[in-house]
Amino acid sequence: MIFDIDNTLVMHGAPADERARELFCRLEGLGLKTCLLSNNKERRVKPFADAVGSPYIFKADKPR
Ligand SMILES: [Mg+2]
Repeated sequence: MIFDIDNTLVMHGAPADERARELFCRLEGLGLKTCLLSNNKERRVKPFADAVGSPYIFKADKPR
């Protein structure tokens, strides 16, 4: 499952909260692989991805 971060999993710029961490934990438990896909910079995306234990792509140039 591919997720945006800002204004999708959390409010823009907010850190990974308990709700987001539990979601990714549940998805992993279901055997689903995840990826965070964000247009933001790595300094925003990596800490969030590390907190939820997901691989990520930053500066993704969505929607292209
Ligand atoms: Mg967004």
